[in-house]
Amino acid sequence: DPLQESDLKDLAELGMGNGGSVMKVEHVPSGIVMAKKIVLIDAKPTIRKQILRELHIMHACSSPYIVSSFGAFLSEPNICICMEFMDRGSFESIYKNIGRKIKLKGPRSSLLRANTWDSGDTEQVPGPIPIGIVRQVARCVLGGLVYLYEDMGVLHRDIKPSNILLNSEGQVKLCDFGVSGELENSVAKTFVGTSVYMSPERILGSDYTVKSDVWSLGVTLIELAHGCFPFSDTDEGESPLKSVSSATLPSALSKRASSRKSRRISVHTGVGSLSILELMHHIVQEPPPTLITPSVQHSLTTEADEFVGNCLKKDPVSRLNPRELLGTSWMDNDRTRKEMDLRTWAGTL
Ligand code: ADP
Ligand code: MG
Repeated sequence: DPLQESDLKDLAELGMGNGGSVMKVEHVPSGIVMAKKIVLIDAKPTIRKQILRELHIMHACSSPYIVSSFGAFLSEPNICICMEFMDRGSFESIYKNIGRKIKLKGPRSSLLRANTWDSGDTEQVPGPIPIGIVRQVARCVLGGLVYLYEDMGVLHRDIKPSNILLNSEGQVKLCDFGVSGELENSVAKTFVGTSVYMSPERILGSDYTVKSDVWSLGVTLIELAHGCFPFSDTDEGESPLKSVSSATLPSALSKRASSRKSRRISVHTGVGSLSILELMHHIVQEPPPTLITPSVQHSLTTEADEFVGNCLKKDPVSRLNPRELLGTSWMDNDRTRKEMDLRTWAGTL
């Protein structure tokens, strides 16, 4: 039977993104818990039907590294996409909460604290994800990219921590991949959301290729291993993020700059903020970020650093593709025995 709105019961809100919101729902007739993504679309009926057709491709995906889909339906003026619910959420929420602390309220005196202790009140504290876990996540993401590219003929187009999900079985799966070019065109996405993981060639207007997904993976891996977004305005030494006027920007950028002159959009970097144009200028002009930095080298191996370096080659021609990356030494399966497995780690979250 096709999915329909009236069969779904809302259980909780899972998150809000640029394109819409995601709800945890129960499909009442089957008892299956699903994640329902609600996307507000601004498109003509014919385009909407095209979007639904394209979403059926997602239905055809079958891979341990891709979130499975239960189907999609129109619910004016939204499109609803029902997918497998991943009970440990995204790697964005995982790393942003990994150092969760109990917040103390009221007087600090230990005598009084007993009465004012509020055990449910927690504070979000981001922290790095152990490098052995990051390595296993990288293998799964590459497995997903190889499947999408080689078996389905599609690119992901939106690799970032919030689109990499974990469940308590220790499975890591990709969601929100670009099966639908039409959907991408008609969703009212913000400028910020689509650009901070963007490769230099894409910023400069070149075609999207599987290598652009690899760039986004490299940025994502640094973010998980450092516990913060890698492009920040408080880098050691002289900050390369000087204010830029649209005159100094590459032409593809200055066009966008002038059309949005009055809008200075802040990018959350963990420390302070920089405008999206400064960030894009930085991505295009400056050396790529690296995994090992003077302040972050604890337990990070040169093999891991090399791997990320191969993802973040600014020239897409020298950047490795997903299958080549799976063949590099850091991805060697022998390591898994020495590392905590994802299932056990998921149980600690
Ligand atoms: P974004 O990916 O930009 O954060 P989305 O609207 O795609 O925005 O998703 C919002 C949040 O919903 C995600 O960050 C993630 O934590 C959560 N989410 C999305 N899909 C699922 C799913 N299938 N299972 C569990 N949580 C999900
Ligand atoms: Mg998403």
